[in-house]
Amino acid sequence: IYLHRGQQYKVTELDLKNRLIRVVNGQVPYFTRVRSEKETTVLEVLKSKPIANFIVRLGRLRVTEQIVGYEKRRLFTQELLDQHTLELPPQTFETVGFWLEIEDAIAQAVRNVKLHFMGGIHALEHAAISMFPLFALCDRNDIGGIAYPLHPQLEKSAVFIYDGYPGGIGLAVRGYGIIEPLLGKTRELIASCSCDQGCPACIHSPKCGAGNKPLDKAAALLILRYLLGEMSLPDFSSREGTARGDHMPRLDPEAPEPQPLRIGFFDLETQRLADEVGGWQNKHLMRVSVAVLGRGFGEDYRVYREDELDQLIRDLQELDLVVGFNIKSFDYSVLQAYSSFDFKKLPTFDILEQIHRHLGFRLSLDHIAEHTLGEAKQADGIQAVRWFREGQWEPLIRYCQDDVRLTRDVFRHCLEKGYLVYADRRGNQVRLPTPWKLEDLAGAHKKG
Ligand SMILES: [Zn+2]
Ligand SMILES: [Zn+2]
Repeated sequence: IYLHRGQQYKVTELDLKNRLIRVVNGQVPYFTRVRSEKETTVLEVLKSKPIANFIVRLGRLRVTEQIVGYEKRRLFTQELLDQHTLELPPQTFETVGFWLEIEDAIAQAVRNVKLHFMGGIHALEHAAISMFPLFALCDRNDIGGIAYPLHPQLEKSAVFIYDGYPGGIGLAVRGYGIIEPLLGKTRELIASCSCDQGCPACIHSPKCGAGNKPLDKAAALLILRYLLGEMSLPDFSSREGTARGDHMPRLDPEAPEPQPLRIGFFDLETQRLADEVGGWQNKHLMRVSVAVLGRGFGEDYRVYREDELDQLIRDLQELDLVVGFNIKSFDYSVLQAYSSFDFKKLPTFDILEQIHRHLGFRLSLDHIAEHTLGEAKQADGIQAVRWFREGQWEPLIRYCQDDVRLTRDVFRHCLEKGYLVYADRRGNQVRLPTPWKLEDLAGAHKKG
């Protein structure tokens, strides 16, 4: 079905030899979308530069596109009615394009948190193309894109964006120049779209040759954060079996991948003290000065200021387990002022809540860290508020991050050793058994 000025024309004959297409005008309740396979070869690299955590290159490309079939979909609902294969000769042209080279560490990190890497780069490609017209006079039909989990020539993952016209018309050259703001806008578009899994307003493309599959919105966002340097690249090179060269990159995007638990450690500091907001019952008025989320058991910390809490709340929702100290009754209440999200829904393990349940009284994180790990905290909440008022972000952030680290280390100690240590009133050290199993803690929340 060919659309012209709102009229449907059905193609009845395609004569490639004489370059003739016959159509008839007629109303039908469906539309068609081609399925195609594309590939590209780099003929020559023209320019190259490192940006944040990736390299972008500009070059001459040979692009081959083969229409392999088409699908018939019902108008409006897009329901798939029928699929047809077509045998047409591949079309090849030379053009100019730029590409982002994506490091293995990013692919690995995405897979480690159970997201779909191919779906992520594919979504990134679509979204970047849709943002391109903000920076150059064109529409999305003037440019093409291909996402590779592994490009045979480059031997790494890459996303190509190229001029859709033979020889190029300068769009890719422009794209190479504005790649950082382009990716920034792309990240904004995806992060701000309220859809769950991706939609036509963010990562779907009306001209996707693969029928918008696979796409993974969360993976695209994570990849963009790594690319833009908001997160530092993890180093997997020392781990067994993943050193460069001694493993085969996975080519099949559908292959099951190891799926470890996504665990986060979380703490926040406030702008005001409890007695400045009318006591602890008004803790939701204390306002966040800074929050820190530590991801996994490594040193991957993300810092959020007050205007970035939406992002924090999204990041919390991506975790299989949130671990904190007194977060259920304190931190979540403070955060509740910023969001209608129901924090009770988060799979949370609150160490203080467990202690209270077993002992009938509370202990501070300082106390437990001191007796269990032999580490003392260097400041307190009052000092943290003072730093905030003085605009001393550096010690404030360090303090918050230290609390996250202590929470993580206490939790790890409990998992590995099966107890934590506190001191009773007479100063004798006492062990409190902690028979916690990571899988059970996350699993309990999944079911309930
Ligand atoms: Zn969306
Ligand atoms: Zn696509």
